[in-house]
Amino acid sequence: MKIGFLGLGNMGAAIAPNLIKAGHDVSVWNRSPDKAAALVAKGATHALTPGEASKAEVVFTMLADDAAVEGVADDILANLTDGGIHISLSTISVALAEKLTQAHADKGQHFVSAPVFGRPAAAADAKLFIAAAGETEAMDRVMPLLNAIGQKVEVFGDTPSAANLVKLAGNFLIISVTESLGEAMALVAKGGANNTKFLDFLTSTLFGSLIYKNYGALIASQTFEPAGFAAVLGAKDMRLVGAAADGLTVPMPLADLLRDRLARLVAEGNGHLDLTALSALAFKDAGLK
Ligand code: NAP
Repeated sequence: MKIGFLGLGNMGAAIAPNLIKAGHDVSVWNRSPDKAAALVAKGATHALTPGEASKAEVVFTMLADDAAVEGVADDILANLTDGGIHISLSTISVALAEKLTQAHADKGQHFVSAPVFGRPAAAADAKLFIAAAGETEAMDRVMPLLNAIGQKVEVFGDTPSAANLVKLAGNFLIISVTESLGEAMALVAKGGANNTKFLDFLTSTLFGSLIYKNYGALIASQTFEPAGFAAVLGAKDMRLVGAAADGLTVPMPLADLLRDRLARLVAEGNGHLDLTALSALAFKDAGLK
C-alpha cells in the first residue's frame, strides 16, 4: 500500500521501519529533513513537503502535539486520495480529533485515532499497545497496518476521539505512578535502604507491571537522558487531560497536582529530560542529591 508518514521523532523513526518491513511503499516527511536519511537507508522515499508525502491511500501522523498536527492538516486534506485515511498516532486533544474527523469527512476521507502506549524501544520492536477508534470500514482497512506496528490493538468504537480520551486517561495513570514512585524512592533512599532492591521486591510481588518495572528502573538509577518520553511531552499530556476533564466536568484533583509538578520541571529548564526526572524533584525536596 502507498503510505505517507509524517514525523520522525523518537517514536516515528522507530515505527516507520515496521511499515516498510511489512512491504509497504512508505514516503516519509520530517520538519528537520536530516532525520529522513536513516529511513531512506531502510527503503523509504524522502518527501520534501508534508503534501508530497500525503499523496497516498493512508497517511500516518506521529508529531509532537496539536500545533504540529494542525500545521500539516491542510496539506493532508488536500493531497490524500479520495476515500483515503489519516491515522493519527500522536497524543493530541479530544477537540482536535473531533475537528479532524469532521474535516476529513467533508472531503470524502476518513480519520482514525490510534494513539499508542509504549516507549521508543517498544515501538522499534513493533510491541506498541494501540487504542484505536474510527468508522468500521476505515478500521477494517487499517487494522493490518496497526498490527504491523503494535502487539495489541483495542478498538474503542466508531468515534475517533474516544481513543484519544483513553490515551489521555492512560497517560494520567503513567504520570501518577511516576510521581508516586519518585516520592516512595526518595523516602526509601533517605532512610538508607536500597532502591534497586526495593523495586525488585515491589515488581516481583504486588506491582508486577511494565510501568513499575521500566519507569522504576530509570528512577532507581536516576538516569534521565536520553529521554525516551520527554518531560515536556508529559506536561503537554497533563494539559490535555485537564482540558478533557474541564470539557466533561470531571474533577481530577490529582491531575492538577501532576500538571503543576511537570510545569515546575519544565520551568526549571529540564523539559528535555525523561518524564522520570519528576523523581529528581522528590529527591531534591527530600534534601537528597
Ligand atoms: P519527539 O521525539 O519530540 O518528536 C516530535 C516530532 O514532532 C518530530 O518529528 C518533530 O520534528 C515534530 N514536530 C514538533 N513540532 C513540530 C511542528 N511545529 N511542526 C512540524 N513538526 C513538528 O516526540 P516523540 O517522543 O516521537 O512523540 C511523538 C508523539 O507521540 C507525541 O504526541 C507524544 O506525546 C506521543 N508518545 C510518545 C511516547 C514516548 O515514549 N516518546 C509514547 C507514546 C506516545 P523535528 O524532528 O523537526 O523536531
